[in-house]
Amino acid sequence: MTFAEERQLIADACRVLAARGLASGYLGHVSLRVDEDRLLVRCRGRQERGLAWTTAADVHLVTFDGGPGAVGELDGWTPPNELPLHSEVLRTRGDVDAVVHAHPPAVVAADLAGLRIRPIVGAYDMPGTKLAAGGVPVYPRGVLVRDRRLAGEMVTAMAGRPVVLLRGHGLTSAGTGVQEAVLNAIAVDQIAQLSLTVAAAGGTLVDLDAADMAELPDLGAGFNHGTAWRHELARLP
Ligand SMILES: [Zn+2]
Repeated sequence: MTFAEERQLIADACRVLAARGLASGYLGHVSLRVDEDRLLVRCRGRQERGLAWTTAADVHLVTFDGGPGAVGELDGWTPPNELPLHSEVLRTRGDVDAVVHAHPPAVVAADLAGLRIRPIVGAYDMPGTKLAAGGVPVYPRGVLVRDRRLAGEMVTAMAGRPVVLLRGHGLTSAGTGVQEAVLNAIAVDQIAQLSLTVAAAGGTLVDLDAADMAELPDLGAGFNHGTAWRHELARLP
């Protein structure tokens, strides 16, 4: 992909997150590794209107430490305060090339209600079920992840998993590409919403039966990412 295509992909990803209700306000950002010390990330600008209205012009090349990744990249723009959240995941996770950070209300509410992200469904959402079955850990601090010390704590809590919840804050999601990181975040949000609905209806959350879990076919990582991503783009307002 060209830089222009990657900037557009990140902008689309921001709009998908907002359209899916993973960003109640204007906050949140998506990043993509470019090389060993630079990433493309949604930045803050004077004309910024929030995640739902992100354009490719909002996406800039910066170093892992927040400097301009090329001449003029940050003229009139600033990297997000939580850039260390992105760069620390990219520094420490060779299996990850893209990072999503968002503040999904349902994810925050479910965690505060004591509901963990568990494999409560089966064929309803197989990738989501398998993601939940593998574990979605919680970073128990509601802090702004604004430096490497706090980002390191978050990465430790993440424990190599695709998604970590940030208590009283939101989530951080990782993937081999932007699409995977966004789809992982959406899957966790969907389970959080279902969990809250079941609990509100007086139900009890129970993990999928082990025999049923074993019956779920392994379709391979990224099996339907192409279709899922086209669907997300098509449903954008
Ligand atoms: Zn945040």
